[in-house]
Amino acid sequence: MQTLGLIGGMSWESTLEYYRLINLAVREKLGSPHSCKSLIYSVDFAEISDLQHKGEWERLTVQMLEIARVLEKSGAELIIICTNTMHIMAEDVEKGIEVPLLHIADATAGEIKEMGLEKVGLLGTRFTMEKDFYAHRLKEKHGIKTIIPPEEDRKIIHEIIYNELIAGKILAQSRNEYIRIINGLKDRGAQGVVMGCTEIPLLIGSEDSSLPLFDTTGIHARKAVEMALSS
Ligand code: GLU
Repeated sequence: MQTLGLIGGMSWESTLEYYRLINLAVREKLGSPHSCKSLIYSVDFAEISDLQHKGEWERLTVQMLEIARVLEKSGAELIIICTNTMHIMAEDVEKGIEVPLLHIADATAGEIKEMGLEKVGLLGTRFTMEKDFYAHRLKEKHGIKTIIPPEEDRKIIHEIIYNELIAGKILAQSRNEYIRIINGLKDRGAQGVVMGCTEIPLLIGSEDSSLPLFDTTGIHARKAVEMALSS
């Protein structure tokens, strides 16, 4: 088994999920008492969020690359960035390290293609929905089209992530808002919805949705374990 290197704390609420899921996946494949060999570098998300909202993406790229190198030097053999948003700099991080990086959108695309879907809705932070890095990767590398909610709904989704989910607040009214937004995407032709923020699966699950949901946290964690066990 290879050692996974997790860049976490963005937020720690979802990094907990990653830690739980990678260990569960190893136990499922190898049996108890096996668990996942892993290193977690967990940041102070206040510093990250502040730089994100100021648009300081170059400084954030330098920080993510430094963290990836610390993990690599410490023995990580496969790096995962435990957030969708911070894949903005995934290609730069990948170029600056020797070990592979598993991109969250590639792992997710694998499952979308397995279901034979061509057009999906994308929910996430404003950065993930509005910048091109995620939709472009799905389209250019995997031939998957994405649609995003209208402006006012993107604002609602973003605020629920930063003000509630990252603060550990799970509210029924916010779940209802997400369900309403998913139904809007369905009316516009989405065949499934990417939960492109690692905290969204803490709020909604497939039982809440009229469309198949792609849980990027679970997909990324399971794919990383599959790779760690196969080499
Ligand atoms: N975890 C979230 C994501 O998957 C948002 C936090 C962040 O900005 O990194 O995008």
